[in-house]
Amino acid sequence: MKLKYRYIDQAKRILAREEGTVHKDWGGRLPVVLIYANTYQLGMSSLAMHTVYRLFNDQPDVVCERAFSPVESYRSARHEDEPILSIESQRPLADFPVIAFTISYEMDYFNAVQMLRQAGIPPLAENRDETWPLIIAGGPAVYTNPAPLADIFDAFAIGEGEIIIPPLIDALWEAGQAPRDEGLHILAQVPGMYVPALENGPVSRVWLRDLDAAPAVTQIYTYDTEFGDRALIEIARGCGRGCRFCMAGYTYRPMREVSLDTILAVARHSLKHRDKVGLVSAAVSDHSWIDQIATELRKMEARIAIASMRVDPISEPLIRALAESGTQTLTIAPEAGSVRMRKIINKPQSDQQLLYAVDLAARYNFPQLKMYFMIGQPTETEADVEAIADMVLAARDRFARHLTINATPYVPKAHTAFQWTAMMPVEAIEARVKYLKQRLSPAKVTVRSDSPSWAAVEGVLARGDRRLGRVLASMQKTTLREWERALKAEGLSQEDYLRERATDEPLPWSVVDTGVSQAYFTWDVRRAFRDEFTEPCPPAGCLKCNACDQEWAFRDVDDLGPNRGAYGDNFIPLIG
Ligand code: SF4
Repeated sequence: MKLKYRYIDQAKRILAREEGTVHKDWGGRLPVVLIYANTYQLGMSSLAMHTVYRLFNDQPDVVCERAFSPVESYRSARHEDEPILSIESQRPLADFPVIAFTISYEMDYFNAVQMLRQAGIPPLAENRDETWPLIIAGGPAVYTNPAPLADIFDAFAIGEGEIIIPPLIDALWEAGQAPRDEGLHILAQVPGMYVPALENGPVSRVWLRDLDAAPAVTQIYTYDTEFGDRALIEIARGCGRGCRFCMAGYTYRPMREVSLDTILAVARHSLKHRDKVGLVSAAVSDHSWIDQIATELRKMEARIAIASMRVDPISEPLIRALAESGTQTLTIAPEAGSVRMRKIINKPQSDQQLLYAVDLAARYNFPQLKMYFMIGQPTETEADVEAIADMVLAARDRFARHLTINATPYVPKAHTAFQWTAMMPVEAIEARVKYLKQRLSPAKVTVRSDSPSWAAVEGVLARGDRRLGRVLASMQKTTLREWERALKAEGLSQEDYLRERATDEPLPWSVVDTGVSQAYFTWDVRRAFRDEFTEPCPPAGCLKCNACDQEWAFRDVDDLGPNRGAYGDNFIPLIG
């Protein structure tokens, strides 16, 4: 009981530091608890969390509150008796008739299951009848491959909240008053809802055509989060580049832009809360008006922040705006060191372009330069890893301040061109990261990497099947040893999930149709292994990968701005 009061106090302290929280009376409304299966600090850094919270609360007959995991990482120690309460009214999860998770990352599956257990809710759906809340999930990780969680959640939202949530509300009202079986049939009628118990796949992903109709911007301002000093504004969704490893790149196709006028109007409003604007999109510098966005925001005296910068082409006005905004770190993502490897992954950035970005980082005197690389991409050899070290040392010669690289283990993901490829064994990744440290540490380069062993677990979940639900539900704590025990108890092996798959093999994630056809992926992966680039999406007129429909593909593109470097006629593969 004492513990519960401590958590109530904690929630009240959080609320006292928030601006923009929605408080609604429960009377006559459908209570939904929106859960981010990680900490408040991380969850409130997610623009998706803000957007879904707003979308639910925009419905007059819904009251949406939030809850977070009490622990940050799947590896953190946890206390089984910690209560999980909503932030707004400090009620336990089981009081809500609807529990909605938004999950962006596979490793949060462990927290999600643990949160249910801590809330006293049976993790397996088969053990819950209509007396338990309906438990649904959305977000990029689960809608790319819901299979590992199919025995845990009742239903999955496949696609974008702006389209799914309004009709879903009516269905949830109705489903909540029906026996569970009937309720599931009601949910399955909503376009984009996948209900595993009914095996109603493949479900087509739904997506919002006009981003200007519902701009995504920070809803709740608080300093208790990583991006507390800024307003986050989505400037584009999706990416047409076609990097073959990138799940977000394919599952959010086609690329859609928020118009320059809307971005500036939203920014003007958000500057009342914060003087800094965080521009959010898969590739910020691909916005066709990016130079104008940067220049106009600076005229409003806004400071600007972005997550990372593409270098092909590089936007110097944006770099200048970042430097003037006091940005401490410029981040670029070559992903691979050798031209050969960048051809395989379809990231056509030349060494010259990358080093020019390094020169700009030096010229504008950024305190830190970060470079992202992946280790263990398909066909990668030791020579490719040596090329990473060579490139970083060349950057070191040009950039004297703090230089950091992230050498992240590559994890093959569902619904990408590399969905069939094997994941590199843990020991090989470890050896390659060790090599990079040996070569780069003497040059005062900081080398960071995630644990290859946990990356392998992520690899299992990313391309996993329905049998993993029982594994997750049976784990008493989140350790590698417990994971191995639970896999073994279900008669499963990690290697089987990480192996190469045949292109004609049934895939567990075929219950989702993201729009990009399997035929396109088989075509594109063959091109990869012939070292051939695939061009980015043109501004209009394409139905090649199938993600666009007629209406979108042949829309009027006169509103696009002058920065069309990545798209259509201006595409020049500059390397090779
Ligand atoms: S159909 Fe063409 S324009 Fe649309 S997402 Fe696919 S490749 Fe891009």
